[in-house]
Amino acid sequence: MKTRRWFVLLCGLWTVGSAVSLAAEGHSAGVSAPEARWTTLWNDPRLVEEIQAFLKTVRQEEIRRHLFYLAKDPLPFRKLNYTRPGQQKNTLYEADDYIAAELQKWGYQVDREEAMVQAYRRDPKKPKAHQYFPPAPEDPWYKAYNLYAERKGRRQPEEIILLVAHKDSQSWVDSPGANDNAIGTSGLLEIARVLAQHPSDRTIRFLWCNEEHTPWTSVTAARKAKQRGDKIIAVFNLDGIGAKSAEDTAAGKKKNVLVFTLPEGEAIARLALAANERFRIGLEQKIFQRPRPGDDDGSFVQAGYPAALLMIGSYPYADPNYHTEGDIPERTDVPNAAMTVQLTLAVVLTLDRSP
Ligand SMILES: [Zn+2]
Repeated sequence: MKTRRWFVLLCGLWTVGSAVSLAAEGHSAGVSAPEARWTTLWNDPRLVEEIQAFLKTVRQEEIRRHLFYLAKDPLPFRKLNYTRPGQQKNTLYEADDYIAAELQKWGYQVDREEAMVQAYRRDPKKPKAHQYFPPAPEDPWYKAYNLYAERKGRRQPEEIILLVAHKDSQSWVDSPGANDNAIGTSGLLEIARVLAQHPSDRTIRFLWCNEEHTPWTSVTAARKAKQRGDKIIAVFNLDGIGAKSAEDTAAGKKKNVLVFTLPEGEAIARLALAANERFRIGLEQKIFQRPRPGDDDGSFVQAGYPAALLMIGSYPYADPNYHTEGDIPERTDVPNAAMTVQLTLAVVLTLDRSP
């Protein structure tokens, strides 16, 4: 992910954000709350039991397994401009192969979509977290891939719930990109595993894209979806899940920020606040409105899909190792990421079963 420069926040736009972690309290009675059309579904004990059963199957060990494979051993990075000694494929292609093989193991068909990108250049004069710099036209172009997998819906297959994570690491610096975003890549794989045999009502689509090369390949994905006329009813972007300040990590806090751009996204953010309470997931959450579309969820907002949400451990992003060589898997919070995965599942399953 790429946070906006701080001066944007200092211009007063920050005030549009609001911390409402207690807002879920009392919402069960609030008919006017935008999420009530979904939370009333939880009056059905069978649906609640079904969701709880899915949440129980989330495994931290699976997330950790993917994470260390993708951000440490064997893959030190996931970028088009780095190939391991003795290998034929660059490390991002190797990551693509790993993700595809896992998905196929669980019975998914994996589709690849091409998009041409360049690596960022590096400007060492800028602050460490923001040293990415636009490439020159003569810099090499690479073929990057969006990876797709999906569960086709049985009742309303034309309605699509999309889950997104960028899978590449920083192209301008030798960072393992563990929090940014091997953790979201791995969390999304775990959601796919859990839902592999789920007979969903709607279509649940997974997308692993690239956001640390330029242009972002989620832009291609979103534009093509719009051109096809895809009816995407919700977009969840998992980027930096569980990543937060060193203080919060040391204190054992389990955090998630629900970042939205438009009112349609806010309604889903508020559903997520309520789901955290209803299913006793235990995250410390707040919601935040972006001043403008951003990250891979923003690509979909800009393409005309307003119901988009970013799930992230802190916002503004507080990981002290952001975009540095120190963003290693040992410094992620896998239990926190697993809770965010559970929360995402609870919201997705609720949306899926809504009339
Ligand atoms: Zn990033």
